[in-house]
Amino acid sequence: MNSSSNIKNPISELTKRFHKIQENDPPYPVNSFLKYTNIIEVQEAEIDFDGYAISIGGNKYIIGYNRNLYDHRRRFTCCHEIAHTLSFKGKVEERTNAEEILCNRIAAELLLPTNVFIKFANKLEPSISSFLELSKIFRVSLEVVMDSIRRGYNNFFVLSILRKL
Ligand SMILES: [Zn+2]
Repeated sequence: MNSSSNIKNPISELTKRFHKIQENDPPYPVNSFLKYTNIIEVQEAEIDFDGYAISIGGNKYIIGYNRNLYDHRRRFTCCHEIAHTLSFKGKVEERTNAEEILCNRIAAELLLPTNVFIKFANKLEPSISSFLELSKIFRVSLEVVMDSIRRGYNNFFVLSILRKL
């Protein structure tokens, strides 16, 4: 067991039920997450915002995403909505800024699990183009990759880049 697999954070703890999926190589299909949730339907919708989660009672949910979103953003939106159903059972309609930030963190952790991210990032040359490569590997936007790095998911990687700049 290497040191990176021992890294623990509250978000990883919350998403640990998904870890079995993360033993596979990325990108992680959003559909594969659904069986670990109480979501019974994912809808493609004609809406002017990114996505929604609706509680339909009995701890069951429907989530939806804007049909015009491109792949990376659609994946992130679905995971963000999954996060609403995971962490705020029965209150998905009452959303606060803190909750939105937390759901973004959870969504990033689902698509870009800390341990897997570190493993892949460390295989790459420390360079700016590696950010793009990571975005492709995990099928997430560059913004999500950068956010994850900013949060210190991969200090080795960041330090290596900074040393080279
Ligand atoms: Zn939200």
